[in-house]
Amino acid sequence: KCRVALLTSGGDSPGMNAAIRAVTLACEQHHYECIGFYHGYNGLMDDQAVNLTSELVNPYLQQGGTLLKSARCKSMLLPEGPKQAANTLNKHNIDALIVIGGDGSFRGMQALSHHWSGQLIGLPGTIDNDLAHSDKTIGFATAVQTATEAIDKIRDTANAFERVFIVEVMGRHSGHIAFNVGLATGAESILSFENFDPEKAQAYVEKLAVQIQQQQNNKHSSFLIILAENLWPDGPSGLQQALKQTANIDSGVCILGHIQRGGSPVVEDRLLASKLGLAAVQAIAEKQHLVMLGEVGGNLIATPIENTIQDPKPVSMYWLNAHEEALKGF
Ligand code: ATP
Repeated sequence: KCRVALLTSGGDSPGMNAAIRAVTLACEQHHYECIGFYHGYNGLMDDQAVNLTSELVNPYLQQGGTLLKSARCKSMLLPEGPKQAANTLNKHNIDALIVIGGDGSFRGMQALSHHWSGQLIGLPGTIDNDLAHSDKTIGFATAVQTATEAIDKIRDTANAFERVFIVEVMGRHSGHIAFNVGLATGAESILSFENFDPEKAQAYVEKLAVQIQQQQNNKHSSFLIILAENLWPDGPSGLQQALKQTANIDSGVCILGHIQRGGSPVVEDRLLASKLGLAAVQAIAEKQHLVMLGEVGGNLIATPIENTIQDPKPVSMYWLNAHEEALKGF
C-alpha cells in the first residue's frame, strides 16, 4: 500500500488546511496511507508523525493556519539535516512526500532529493505569491482581501482627518501583495521592489511630497502610500521622517503585519488548495517526481521544482501604471 507523507513549511498561509484535507481525502480514495509530519521539516528531524484521516482533517477546511503546524528548520541547511529527514521517511516506509510551502521549502525538497529516493511533490503555499508557474499561490487571495479590508478602514480615518498614511504590507521581497492591494484600495502611491531604487530614496520623497501637496491644494482629503515590507531604508518610519524633514508633511504609519497571514481562506484559496491537493495525489499515482503543481490560465500543470525556484514571477505593471496616470488627472 502506497504511503504518502505531507508537511507544511515556512510561513503559514490561508488554504493550507484545505490542501491538507484534499490530499487526505484523495489518499483515502486511492487507498493510500496518509501520514502528516508536524512543524515543517522539524517533524522529520525528530519524527513527529500523525495518521491523517478524513474525520481529523474535515473540520479544518475553512480555517486559516495549518493543523500540521509550520516552522523554519535550520537543520535542513546543514549537511546532516536532509539525511536525518531521509532516515525518518525511510523508517515510516514513505513512498512520496508532499511539501506545502514557499521557495525555501522547495529548496529543502531539492536537498532531500539527494538523500532520499521517494517521490517529492510541492504545492505553492505562501501569501507572497512569489512562486513562478502558478498564477497564484495558496493564501495570496486571502492576504490581499484581508489587507484591503484593513486599509479601507484606515482610509476612513485618513479621510476624516485629511491625513497622509503610510501602510506597510507583507510580501517578503516581492510586490504582488503591495500592488494588488494598492490597486484594490485606490492608493495614491504604491512603493515596492519593482518600482523603487533605495539609492534614490530622497528623489522618491521629493516626488511624493509634490504629489501630496498638489492633492492637498485640490482639497482631496486623504493620501495613502502602500509600502512593501523590507523595502524602505529604516522601514515605514524612515519614510515618515523623510516626508517631515523634506516637506514638513505629517503622516501616520500602520504596519499591517501578521493579520495578513491568518484568517479563514477566501473561496478562491479554498478552490485552489483543494484542486492542487487532489492533483498532488494524482501526480503521485502518475509517478511524477520533484515537481510543483500550480494553476496557470485555469489549467493544473506540473513544473520541475528547479524552475519554480529559479524563474522570476514578475508583477504586472500595466494596470498600475494606468492607475497612476489616471490619478494624475484627479
Ligand atoms: P515563505 O516565503 O512563505 O515564508 P518559504 O518556504 O520560502 O515560505 P523559508 O523560511 O525560506 O520559507 O523556508 C522554509 C524552510 O525550508 C526552512 O526553514 C528550511 O528548513 C528549508 N530550507 C530553506 N532553504 C533551504 C535550503 N537552501 N536547503 C535546505 N532547506 C532549506
